[in-house]
Amino acid sequence: MKKKPQVVLLSYTKDLLETVTAAINQCYSPKTGSELKESLTPEKQKRLLDIVLSSGHLSTIEHASFTFSISGVSRITETQLVRHRIASYSIKSGRYNKTHTNFIIPPAIENNKKAAAIVEKYKKNLESTIDELTNLGFKPEDMRFFTPQGIKTNIIVTMNARSLLNFFEHRLCVRAQWEIRQLAQLMLDVVMEVAPEIFRYAGPTCETQKICWEGNMSCGKWKAIEGGELRSRQSD
Ligand SMILES: Cc1cc2nc3c(=O)[nH]c(=O)nc-3n(C[C@H](O)[C@H](O)[C@H](O)COP(=O)(O)OP(=O)(O)OC[C@H]3O[C@@H](n4cnc5c(N)ncnc54)[C@H](O)[C@@H]3O)c2cc1C
Repeated sequence: MKKKPQVVLLSYTKDLLETVTAAINQCYSPKTGSELKESLTPEKQKRLLDIVLSSGHLSTIEHASFTFSISGVSRITETQLVRHRIASYSIKSGRYNKTHTNFIIPPAIENNKKAAAIVEKYKKNLESTIDELTNLGFKPEDMRFFTPQGIKTNIIVTMNARSLLNFFEHRLCVRAQWEIRQLAQLMLDVVMEVAPEIFRYAGPTCETQKICWEGNMSCGKWKAIEGGELRSRQSD
């Protein structure tokens, strides 16, 4: 796809591996957290992480947090992203933003000449509507009632590692919409660079749990996974 969202990892927990594994070991050791942080060998760190990541006892990885700058995504994806409540968000205000016609066009439409021409016509009409209302003295905050959901926005989000794993389970699934799936993949790519020990376990539930929960809406990918299972949360 041509126009991807931009994702930059602004910051993340310093010494995250040492911090998280000290937290895991704190539960079983008489040593202090700072003693553990200094003393754990890489082998021991790996073993501890494997235990919590495979057993799902994930509260200890909440000590690692990651702050992302996200730009060039639609308000549609923003709405889906903020459903993930275990996170902190700062989002560009629509009250003072005058770019009411700067929206994302889905690749399927953009790559179809006839459809792209229809959208272009819609955009021109929208631009002239906004211009006319602005010339009558109305404020940008009122223009946003006519702004399409596809308008571009910029977001800063902070999530801890546990919340991110949950986010990836939901949003890397092919049932998630293409734009947030693309965003989730880009976020995973940047955290894999700094914390591969944690995020190598990230993925949709067919990969992380060997279970697809999508019932008859499943994409069928679970069939190719050894021991994979299809389940549904709906009672039929
Ligand atoms: C393919 C897809 C389709 C979707 N369709 C819809 C839809 O049609 N309509 C819709 O409304 N949403 C929809 N969603 C959003 C979905 O229901 C979740 O709201 C979203 O994925 C956030 O997940 P979460 O609650 O686990 O995340 P978070 O809010 O980050 O929560 C993380 C975890 O914390 C716990 N938690 C958080 N808050 C509470 C609480 N108040 N009480 C108890 N436990 C809590 C839960 O264990 C939760 O899993 C869809 C999501 C996907 C991936």
